[in-house]
Amino acid sequence: MNDVIVIGAGPAGISAATYAKRAGLDITVIHSGIGALKNATRIENYYGFPDVISGTELYENGLSNARRLGIHIIEDEVMGLLMNDAMTGFVVSSGKEKYEAHSVVLATGASHKSPQIKNLADLEGRGVSHCAVCDAFFYRQKVVAVIGAGEYALSEAAALSHVAQKVILLTNGEPPAQSLPPEYETHAEKISSIIGSDRVNGVRLANGKEIELSGIFVAIGTAGSTELARKVGALIQNNSIKTDNEMATNVPGLFAAGDATGGLLQISKAAYEGTQAGLSVVKYIRNRFTKG
Ligand SMILES: Cc1cc2nc3c(=O)[nH]c(=O)nc-3n(C[C@H](O)[C@H](O)[C@H](O)COP(=O)(O)OP(=O)(O)OC[C@H]3O[C@@H](n4cnc5c(N)ncnc54)[C@H](O)[C@@H]3O)c2cc1C
Repeated sequence: MNDVIVIGAGPAGISAATYAKRAGLDITVIHSGIGALKNATRIENYYGFPDVISGTELYENGLSNARRLGIHIIEDEVMGLLMNDAMTGFVVSSGKEKYEAHSVVLATGASHKSPQIKNLADLEGRGVSHCAVCDAFFYRQKVVAVIGAGEYALSEAAALSHVAQKVILLTNGEPPAQSLPPEYETHAEKISSIIGSDRVNGVRLANGKEIELSGIFVAIGTAGSTELARKVGALIQNNSIKTDNEMATNVPGLFAAGDATGGLLQISKAAYEGTQAGLSVVKYIRNRFTKG
């Protein structure tokens, strides 16, 4: 078991990993490639570069330095986060692997925004969910839908299929990332609105078709910061992960840093919070396991 798994290899994740590694912890960084820096073509407000640097260069430099320090880095898309059976650590899962650690730093960037579908935001918590593992229980023997067209949507659908009477996939006009399994009824049209006033009663598609159902699980793209945090009961505030000044969440051993915690979405803030999270993880592991 690792001391710590950092999810994310942007400025926050690599900073956390650097401080934890240099303090002697066993650490693995899991990431699914470049995050927000991908679209930052001209960075000229970050300390230490005489010329403009691109986000891609900065990201590659961060990864190179982490490798030089001997940090174990895995490229994989994280879809699940759970406490282990003994409740002493975490199980981080992707489509193909499970990784275990005593602590986790979520440095997964800004949370995804929900799709702009009429009524979706109004019915949050009243039939609209972002976490199958948290809420599947409420939909025992009911018809539910997952909005999404990627591997993460399929993993949420699989979690629901053990409990729900029927799981429908709604790609909301997105081309599926892979062929969707035939066991799920699938609709590729855009969703025009969610039907229901007090609770979700169904969805209306752009072609006018109405589907009766009780729950909608939003799982667009990859699992984002708040989706992963919710899976282990971490508190969310303003669509960001809530932390204290040490970047600790309310879940012991779970830390968060960078754009994932909201506020100023800048590299300097992500690097600072990653540094603090790395130092806090070191303190947590040493106190708990008298290591190092
Ligand atoms: C267009 C644009 C321009 C910008 N320009 C500037 C600028 O000039 N100056 C500045 O200071 N800031 C700028 N920013 C902001 C800056 O890019 C971010 O604040 C910074 O990258 C946040 O770092 P982070 O480590 O928190 O997240 P990110 O850099 O977004 O990294 C997130 C990491 O998490 C990983 N991840 C996410 N989900 C998963 C998953 N499910 N499984 C595995 N890995 C996952 C991603 O692969 C990635 O490695 C800009 C942002 C944009 C979009």
